Amino acid sequence: MKVIVLGSSGSVGAPENPASGYLILPSTGAGVLMDLGPGVLGQLQRHHDPNDAHVVFSHLHADHCLDFPSLMVWRRYHPQAPAAGRNLLFGPAATFDHLGRLSADEPDQIDDMSDTFAFSAWKAHQTEILGSVNITPYPMIHPVETYALRIEEHRTGAVLAYSGDTAWTSELIECARDADVLLCEATWGASSEGKAPDMHLSGAEAGRIAREAGVKRLVLVHIPPWGDPEAALAAAREEFSGPVEVSYSGMEIDC
Ligand SMILES: [Zn+2]
Ligand SMILES: [Zn+2]
Repeated sequence: MKVIVLGSSGSVGAPENPASGYLILPSTGAGVLMDLGPGVLGQLQRHHDPNDAHVVFSHLHADHCLDFPSLMVWRRYHPQAPAAGRNLLFGPAATFDHLGRLSADEPDQIDDMSDTFAFSAWKAHQTEILGSVNITPYPMIHPVETYALRIEEHRTGAVLAYSGDTAWTSELIECARDADVLLCEATWGASSEGKAPDMHLSGAEAGRIAREAGVKRLVLVHIPPWGDPEAALAAAREEFSGPVEVSYSGMEIDC
């Protein structure tokens, strides 16, 4: 299984890095797009047919979903190759209405996406089958309904974990248990001290989660353009002795 970082900038896009979006490519079967922040669809076109992927959302903050209306345009109206059928789509309970509003022509309308996606809401800890991977959502601590996702490839048993956006929670350690790769947010830089509660993690906390979960490799994501990736990296390395890197758009990760 391979993961391509399409965008991993925190909270807003950066000049060389769109907001959150990750393309998961199992060794067989359809790809899975995990979050779809502003700028992600453009990067996706470098790597994969946008019509050939299931879509999953960690949560519905703007930096994780605003390219969805553009994906709908691509799937429905691409002049040569519109989507040939429906893909699966999983997200928080409000996903159908929230994304439907983004994509509607009138302010009080909801664009019905069911012509091109089969939508289902996550249920905490309930594993779903998307082609050749299983995905299990774990509830996180953030101002809106948010899940960390554990992705397990059927054929190889490889495990990828993704934090979404969250403050410290032991649920994330369970989500990432023995994972090959953990994509963990590190919005706050070195430390969470003095930061808003119940929102985000620091590099130190990402490192501690990686250590307590026993992951093999840690990749830091969701660092904003005004953030401090070097400080987040150094703090994560203090806590976790395995390999740690800061993500970038175009990064390819084997797991
Ligand atoms: Zn975010
Ligand atoms: Zn968020």
